Amino acid sequence: MAAPYRRPQRNPVSRTTSYEQPGVCRRRAVSRLLKVHDRRGEGAVDPVTKSFGEFPAWWEANKARFGNKKIAMFCTGGIRCEKSTNFLIGEGVEDVFHLKGGILKYLEEVPAEESRWEGECFVFDGRVSVGHGLEEGTYDLCHACRRPISDEDKTQPAYEEGVCCPRCVDEYDEDDRVRFRERQKQIKLAKARGKIHIGTP
Ligand SMILES: [Zn+2]
Repeated sequence: MAAPYRRPQRNPVSRTTSYEQPGVCRRRAVSRLLKVHDRRGEGAVDPVTKSFGEFPAWWEANKARFGNKKIAMFCTGGIRCEKSTNFLIGEGVEDVFHLKGGILKYLEEVPAEESRWEGECFVFDGRVSVGHGLEEGTYDLCHACRRPISDEDKTQPAYEEGVCCPRCVDEYDEDDRVRFRERQKQIKLAKARGKIHIGTP
């Protein structure tokens, strides 16, 4: 089980200079780190933790990799990276700061011409993904597996609208697909009648 979150021993208030406003960030190390897609794989380290509670154990196992490096933390909404930054300060990490308000604030405030963000940021609402100015992005959700799908995914042979996408093609069997196809048909009919289809798979 993951270790519970411990409060930083030092006074966190005096160390909240680790905050960075989005506008300041673009002139600092975060501007390099932000040059990633939402897979957050290029240049950024993804701890792949499901919740903040798992972060202390991840840090314990990985801290040797970071030595005296400058650490910039960022996440979608700015809450998780603030917690993890406080945690690292409590662990004695000197040079750590985070993106205040998260990626969403950055996308909202930093104009596209100046932004170092590439791609879209996934959000867990009807917009699926957003870009600069928090404009709704180009991703849709696969109605079978609920994963985001890009326009390119839709050109793959494994894609069938409302039924499967390249990522879940092996996760469902033909019985499932019969159900998904039927549901998709109902959604189309409901749309044609101008109603919104609310239902579970
Ligand atoms: Zn899918």
